[in-house]
Amino acid sequence: MLTSTPNSPILIRTLAFIIFNFVFTSIFYAQTHPCGTELLYNNENSPQLPTTNPENVTPRNTYSLPVAIHIIQNENSHANSFHACEPTAEVKLVLDDLADANELFKPHDIQFFLCGEINFIRSNLLNAINMDVQSETNRFNSYNIRNVINIYYVHSIYSEYWRVGGYAYFPWTTTTPHIVMARKYLPNKGKTLAHELGHFFGLFHPHHTRFGSELVDGSNCHEAGDLLCDTPADPNLYGKINDNCQYNQFELDSIGIPYAPNTQLIMSYADSRCKDLFSPQQVSKMKEVYEQYYSHYACNPHIQEKHITIYPNPASELLHIGAIDDVAMEIFDASGRFYPPVPASEKCLDVSFLSNGLYFIRISIPGSQEGQIFKFVVKH
Ligand SMILES: [Zn+2]
Repeated sequence: MLTSTPNSPILIRTLAFIIFNFVFTSIFYAQTHPCGTELLYNNENSPQLPTTNPENVTPRNTYSLPVAIHIIQNENSHANSFHACEPTAEVKLVLDDLADANELFKPHDIQFFLCGEINFIRSNLLNAINMDVQSETNRFNSYNIRNVINIYYVHSIYSEYWRVGGYAYFPWTTTTPHIVMARKYLPNKGKTLAHELGHFFGLFHPHHTRFGSELVDGSNCHEAGDLLCDTPADPNLYGKINDNCQYNQFELDSIGIPYAPNTQLIMSYADSRCKDLFSPQQVSKMKEVYEQYYSHYACNPHIQEKHITIYPNPASELLHIGAIDDVAMEIFDASGRFYPPVPASEKCLDVSFLSNGLYFIRISIPGSQEGQIFKFVVKH
């Protein structure tokens, strides 16, 4: 027991220090991860804002958007560490994240659905992103699928000072805006994904200062801060929230009025546990941006077809191939010998009967001349 040893006061102090640091860093880092979106736009001197006139927009009953999910894995990840026909922990994590984000958008009739199979990308470089040294512009462009929301789940995203939870492109900055999420800080009830989707729909942080600092009295709310008037002036809530989700600082705006921010706003830097709200004006802006940039988004299976991935590779028993019911397959080895494909489930082939070696699988849409050939290795 600590109290029965002569060294106990030191031990207790040491333990208290460790526990304090653990709790402090847990709260500071594990619950709140700043968003890298503003790092992307550090050099954006004159942002082009959407020009939709809300009066010209007829509200829709539902806003339903297709999502393509890409999971980045390290090149050496253990191929046989999961059962090919069962969702892996990674897959479950990202599907739950999407479902959780959908709950946050549900009250506003905005929903997201998975389009096609999850795409797996093996790349050490893309799996641990350093926002300070890598130019983001083209990093994921070659993987982007057109006319869907591309969401990339990487292991981690770093910058010099921040451990970034995710980042997104504003719609007016690129033809293929996409979202990048750090798996390391998930699950968090979809809070980071909902925040990044907010940016994807053109929302700024309530503490945004690119247009000037918003005053607490709201007198400049149309021109400063996030340009919206129902999101109170916000001094950046990162690390300034108490256990009851209250702002725990006393900071003044530029004319000496104390801040009274809304700690529930998903677009703020309040702790994730406190955030569950988009304001009415934020929702209106997202719907305007949808009309201007995303109303043509659609899930096209013929485009998805080009993104078939097979795993694990090497395989020993089962080889996962998305939706084998809808495709024609041929398996052959390097000498050209053909083997009949043996379905094990609607998404998996049984390859346990093949001897060790290199094989090829040609996957095509029945009746189509187009097909894709993948290499895979069998290793028992
Ligand atoms: Zn953000």
